[in-house]
Amino acid sequence: MSDSATTNNPFHIAQKQIRDCAEILGLDDSAREVLLRPMREFHVNFPVRMDDGSIKVFEGYRVQYNDAKGPTKGGIRFHPDETIDTVRALAAWMTWKCSLLDLPLGGGKGGVVCNPKELSQQELERISRGYIKAIGQFISPTKDIPAPDVYTNPQIMAWMVDEYSSIMGNNQFGVMTGKPLPLGGSPGRADATARGGMYTLREAAQEIGLDLSKATMAIQGFGNAGYFAASLATTMFGSKIVAVCDSIGAVGNKHGLDVPKLAEHKLATFSVAKCEGTEDVQDQSLMEMDVDVLVLAALEGVLTEKNADRVKAKIIVELANGPTTPEADEILHRKGIHVIPDFLCNAGGVTVSYFEMVQNAYMYYWDEKEVHEKLDTRMTRAYYEVLNTSKKFQINMRQAAYVVAVERVVEAMRLRGWI
Ligand code: NAD
Repeated sequence: MSDSATTNNPFHIAQKQIRDCAEILGLDDSAREVLLRPMREFHVNFPVRMDDGSIKVFEGYRVQYNDAKGPTKGGIRFHPDETIDTVRALAAWMTWKCSLLDLPLGGGKGGVVCNPKELSQQELERISRGYIKAIGQFISPTKDIPAPDVYTNPQIMAWMVDEYSSIMGNNQFGVMTGKPLPLGGSPGRADATARGGMYTLREAAQEIGLDLSKATMAIQGFGNAGYFAASLATTMFGSKIVAVCDSIGAVGNKHGLDVPKLAEHKLATFSVAKCEGTEDVQDQSLMEMDVDVLVLAALEGVLTEKNADRVKAKIIVELANGPTTPEADEILHRKGIHVIPDFLCNAGGVTVSYFEMVQNAYMYYWDEKEVHEKLDTRMTRAYYEVLNTSKKFQINMRQAAYVVAVERVVEAMRLRGWI
């Protein structure tokens, strides 16, 4: 297997990250061997009746990477390009994310190979139910708790919970998170990822002495993560969003963009491009703009050794998964740019999912204010654990996040007598 960080196989990248972290921590071979492989994985093929009456067999996966710290947790993706190695990598990353936030959970991930854009609502429902029939015996509120991910949503979680409850013979709302509110969803879930990222940005700004009320910001991506980041940065801090982009265009306004107006325009036209009161931005990707804060909320691999040297922002907020290559990381670290790494920065989503599990177990629901306060406490604590580790070991913030997360999983494995 290639050890290169540039390999396209996400699981090879995830394994390289584990090896690098094991070197920093000086882990012995037994710990490395366990961490480098998923504990359990399920491959299923299940039949689904299509709208035209034909039967089609769909392929699905569920990977439970490591449950040393608790039941595994992670989303289900519906995607035509899903592969077992993508699911393995995502399950590994979920393990570190849950550990970093000190949630009593391990990491998992699932997927079904299908293209939701070509399916009717009825077919989507039958695939959701078919997948749960196939993997139902391997999940439970105390074993493995899925959630929405790429191309899955609260409605799909509702069908899956209903199917699982039918199999078990009673209501089992706690088996999934990201559910609609009337079926045991948590208040505060919709903007949790961006909000968690904003809490870490607040602390990062304090660390480097940046006044966010006077700061300028550029945001790549204007979907769930990017839109809420723009909205919260203006309402929480009074920062000026001077540029945003999506897959179609990039727009700016040096006096600050009107975020609600942009959202309305995007809803009507499917893009932020050509929104009234904005001008086109030359740097379509926004990576090299002269701003204080750069928020990455779209794609993986956008900051590479080709452009990292030209980044002018003082802080990079990684709401997207994997936006920065290892080569770019080194350059940014050398330039003194403060990076809030993805699995710290975007952990607000899984943290509120964990709150949803707790509320389901107690059958007692919190208000939004309580969710925000508890999220703030967890995110702020994790930020300082990473920052202090980065200072202690003289490593970058991403390496430090790995050290904190992996060390906890290893400690749990030792205490359980696994290694
Ligand atoms: P989304 O689909 O709602 O939005 C993605 C945005 O990126 C869209 O505005 C799209 O137009 C834009 N985009 C796509 N290609 C682009 C390009 N080439 N240039 C500029 N913009 C482009 O997705 P999301 O939920 O906001 O997720 C964004 C990122 O955040 C992903 O990496 C995702 O894994 C990560 N993330 C999201 C959550 C969450 O709760 N939504 C949680 C953790 C991580």
